Amino acid sequence: MSNHNNEEINRKRKIFHTLEEEDDDELLKLSLMTPFRSTRPRIQARENLKSLPPPLTLENLESSSLNLQQRTILKPTMIPKETIQRKRRNSLKLKPMSGNAKEVKIETITPPFPWATNLIATVHTLQYLLSKQLFIISGDVQCKRCERRYTMEFDLQEKFVEIGSYVMKNKTFLKERAPLIWMTPLLPTCQFCKQENSVKPIICADKNKINWLFLLLGQMLGCCTLDELKFFCEHTNNHRTGAKDRVLFLAYLTLCRQVDPTGPFHR
Ligand SMILES: [Zn+2]
Repeated sequence: MSNHNNEEINRKRKIFHTLEEEDDDELLKLSLMTPFRSTRPRIQARENLKSLPPPLTLENLESSSLNLQQRTILKPTMIPKETIQRKRRNSLKLKPMSGNAKEVKIETITPPFPWATNLIATVHTLQYLLSKQLFIISGDVQCKRCERRYTMEFDLQEKFVEIGSYVMKNKTFLKERAPLIWMTPLLPTCQFCKQENSVKPIICADKNKINWLFLLLGQMLGCCTLDELKFFCEHTNNHRTGAKDRVLFLAYLTLCRQVDPTGPFHR
């Protein structure tokens, strides 16, 4: 009688042992398929295997701070790569969780120029642009005298060194106010009628498409209206309203910082 019981126990143990080995095999497969080994209790591994998402989907990579809506956006694997990168980039900009956990929406655009990013009023760094062989920055201008419209070019490095060193030298002295030369810029000479101080930049009515880097390099940001400058500040985390000289100063400083984030262009 007891012999029979022992045999029965041994038989069950054997079956259990075999099942456990299978579980190990499956866990091994699981860990090979996914970048992170499951931290769930082993007992759940078998049922999870059937509902396991395809390997290396974004679901495996997403952070737990994403809300349900974003999970739904991230889940399909057929989203174009660009969209995924944008969503992930957006998720990085979420405010840290606090009592009032509100998501900050970052609006993205199609970059209006090769030197602009997909964020509104934001340009690439000098380092990035030079690495992409973008040495010349161009923009549309119009002569106030002969009214000819044409495209003007600036040497990125040369012009940025000029404006950058001016900002560096005068930042403290300026006390967060744009100097007269920025407020009323000296305009270029027209290449057709040779009229001095006559070529003004054509500023796109669609604010998302303003050629900010061109305006910076030509030191012609002062040609923007107060409304356009406030738009720039709003989209670059400068929540300042006020007189044009203050907003213009911030636009110069912020654009210099975008081009050279390691430079002395912080407030
Ligand atoms: Zn002209």
